[in-house]
Amino acid sequence: MTTAAVSTFQAPKGTYDLLPPDSALYLAVREAIAAPARRAGYGYVETPGFENVELFSRGVGESTDIVTKEMFTLTTKGGTQLALRPEGTASVLRAALQANLHKTGNLPVKLWYSGSYYRYERPQAGRYRHFSQVGAEAIGAEDPLLDAELIILAVDAYRSLGLRDFRLLLNSLGDGECRPAYRAALQDFLRGLDLDEDTRRRIEINPLRVLDDKRESVQRQLTGVPLIADHLCEGCKAYHEQVRELLTEAGVAFENDPKLVRGLDYYTRTTFEFVHDGLGSQSAVGGGGRYDGLSEMIGGPSLPSVGWALGVDRTVLALRAEGVELDLPAATSVYAVPLGEEARRTLFTVVTELRRAGVAADMAFGGKGMKNAMKSANRSGARFALVAGERDLAEGVVQLKDLESGEQGPVVLGEIVATVKERLV
Ligand code: ATP
Ligand code: MG
Repeated sequence: MTTAAVSTFQAPKGTYDLLPPDSALYLAVREAIAAPARRAGYGYVETPGFENVELFSRGVGESTDIVTKEMFTLTTKGGTQLALRPEGTASVLRAALQANLHKTGNLPVKLWYSGSYYRYERPQAGRYRHFSQVGAEAIGAEDPLLDAELIILAVDAYRSLGLRDFRLLLNSLGDGECRPAYRAALQDFLRGLDLDEDTRRRIEINPLRVLDDKRESVQRQLTGVPLIADHLCEGCKAYHEQVRELLTEAGVAFENDPKLVRGLDYYTRTTFEFVHDGLGSQSAVGGGGRYDGLSEMIGGPSLPSVGWALGVDRTVLALRAEGVELDLPAATSVYAVPLGEEARRTLFTVVTELRRAGVAADMAFGGKGMKNAMKSANRSGARFALVAGERDLAEGVVQLKDLESGEQGPVVLGEIVATVKERLV
């Protein structure tokens, strides 16, 4: 080896590791977000961590921050341009089209996913280069019930976690009938403002996005800007009204946000975002909407669709901000403490039996002394310790200690599994 001694490696900038015990919380959040969608007929889909870069530049949009600034791209040895996936929708739709799921005659195709996403961002609290989303998509049907269904599923997911301080922002972006005239009116207004060159260029490519500009200097000039709500055609108005009625009937509160945009031509009608008030500037915990034009944009047939993606990292931060403690099951219910070689073997067998009987069990390894082993038992969060020494084994028993009450008593070897199971309920 010619290299100089390498100092310890660090996780790359903008990333972090999930480690016990916190990692259990992340798993629980992913499961809680997915559970309502699974109950609503959404099937699990998993796609590769990378795709042809073109899928995203077309499917997410050439003019978006994600594509212009945030993609991790790479060229394979064979010269293919790939990108680490920055979001899920384009991949899921690509997979559905590739497998012809839309031709089964059973529309909408409902899918949910969970995984890692990558964006080259300026790292800060709640904004990372590697993060985690759970998403759901309903592909191939235009029905306000579906838009409402998805929003309700997301709300139910947040509620099931015990979150309270989140808000739902809602808007309609119109469709091919009313959006072009609105876009032109918006461009007319924006061209008259005092804006930097980048923003002026944006007016021509992606004018809706200017509404979303976070800078005070821009927002100040937007007083009196034409709003899509005043330009919706009858079809879009009626559709949006239905979505809002359905949400109200389901007890879901929302705020109309006429400046909430996605800004790409294939995003149509319903658009929404969930924000949490305890997160500072990275307040979006999830977002979604209808994307009736996306399929055609990536070479498929017309497939009106709607979906959302919820950020797992920010949901965890939101739980912390609200001080919500999830009631997570202990990783270990029983912890065995052997005293001596014979006890090691006997308790190893007992632990194996417990695990096979569905009881989470662990034991002290490496010949730890009694004191250290009991410390590990307590740290494991186990409800019971099983302690055995030579004298116990000679009598055919082990000591079962309730780590909550401190109570302890002998249990016959052959009855441990049954006794523990009985006392754990
Ligand atoms: P933001 O406006 O905060 O950049 P976004 O509009 O880029 O969010 P989406 O593309 O809608 O976000 O992704 C859905 C969710 O994924 C977001 O609401 C957020 O919770 C999460 N998310 C997006 N980017 C990041 C990131 N860099 N780090 C952590 N979570 C993220
Ligand atoms: Mg972003």
